Amino acid sequence: MFQRPTRIVVDLDALGGNLRAIRQHVGVPVMAIVKANAYGHGLVPVAHHLQALGVEQLGVAFVEEGLALRRAGITAPILVLGGILGRQVAQLLQHDLEITVSSLDKLRRVEAAAERLGRKAVIHLKVDTGMERIGVHSYSCGPLIEAATASTWCEVKGVYSHLACADDPASPMTALQLARFHEACAHFTRIGAPMPIRHLANSGGVLHFPDTWLDMVRPGIMLYGVLPDPEAQRNVPIRPALSLVSQVVYLKIVQAGHSVGYGATWAPSRDTRVVTVPIGYGDGYPRALSNCGEVLIHGQRRPIVGRLCMDQFMVDLGPEGQAHIEDDVVLIGRQGDETITIEDVAARAGTIGYEILTRLNERVPREYVGASQSR
Ligand SMILES: *Cc1c(COP(=O)(O)O)cnc(C)c1O
Repeated sequence: MFQRPTRIVVDLDALGGNLRAIRQHVGVPVMAIVKANAYGHGLVPVAHHLQALGVEQLGVAFVEEGLALRRAGITAPILVLGGILGRQVAQLLQHDLEITVSSLDKLRRVEAAAERLGRKAVIHLKVDTGMERIGVHSYSCGPLIEAATASTWCEVKGVYSHLACADDPASPMTALQLARFHEACAHFTRIGAPMPIRHLANSGGVLHFPDTWLDMVRPGIMLYGVLPDPEAQRNVPIRPALSLVSQVVYLKIVQAGHSVGYGATWAPSRDTRVVTVPIGYGDGYPRALSNCGEVLIHGQRRPIVGRLCMDQFMVDLGPEGQAHIEDDVVLIGRQGDETITIEDVAARAGTIGYEILTRLNERVPREYVGASQSR
C-alpha cells in the first residue's frame, strides 16, 4: 500500500512468447542471457520463468549473478561469460557454475582449484575472432584446446566466440568471424577430440545470420522483445516484455515566463498546465531526456519540460491538457493507441536500448504479470 506509484511491469507471457519464437526460428538449444539483472527485468523472476519453460542454459556476466541464481534455487546450467580471476574459481566450482576459460593460464588456475576441491570443472573455451575483448586468438588457440581436452579436471562442454557486428545484416565482419571460428573448432577434429557445443550467435546473429546458429544460440536483448539495433530486421515475432509506469503526483498551472526546474532551462510562453512525475535519473531514467523526452498521459504524447531531477520530472500538458493526481503516466510501453518504445527512448537519450534497460535500477519495484495465470 505504501509502495511508490512508479513500477516496472514485466509481462512474463511476452518473455515466454519471445523464447518460443526464437526457438522456432533457430531450431537449436537456447542459452538465455540474463546478465545485468536480466536486462533490467529482474534476474531471479526471469530466470525462474525461463527455467519453467525448459530453457537449456542460462548465461550471466559475473560470478555474483550466478551465485544469486543458485541461491534462488535455479538448477539450470549457468555459464559465467565474463573473464574470471583465479580467486573466483573455487566459488564457481562450489556452486556448479560453468566457467569461461580464455587462456592457458586460466586453465591452470581452474585445474588447480578443481583438483583441490575434488570437483571436475565444466568449462567453455572462449575464442576471440574479432572483438579483442576476452578470449584466446583464433589463430593461436591450438595449445589451449589441446591442454583443455587433455585435462583430467576439466570437462570441455562448449567452445564459443562473440560477434562484433551482427546487428548489421550488411556487415562483412560476421562472415570473417564465422570463418575464424570454424577454423578454431577444426582443431578439435584435428587432434581427435570430441566437438563440444559450439555457440556464437547473439541477438544480431539470431536475426540476421543463420550460419552462426551452430549448436546453440545466446540471445539477450531480443528475448526481452527489443531489437539489438533500430535498423535490425524484425523477422522473428518478438514483443517487448517491459513497461515503465508512474503516476501524476502533483498538478499546477505555470504562468507564462515562469521557469521550470534546475537551471531554469524552460519556461512557457503562455500559462500552461504542468504535472510532476515521481521518477528521475536516480532510478536510472536518463537525465538526457531533459527537455526532449516524451511520456503518455491519457493516451497522448506529452513533452518532458525542464531538467530531469534525481527523483522527479515535469511534463507540460498545454493550456487545455487534462490530468488528475494518480493518473497513470507511461514512460515506456503502451497507453491507448500510443506506444513509447525502448528504441524511442534510446534515440531521444542518445544511447542504445541495452543501456536504457540495464540502467533501470533496484529503486523501481518490479511487478510480474501474465504467466502465473497460465502456468
Ligand atoms: C551479452 C552477451 C550476449 C547477448 O547479446 P545480445 O546482443 O543482447 O543478444 C551473448 N553473448 C555474450 C558473450 C554476451 O556477453
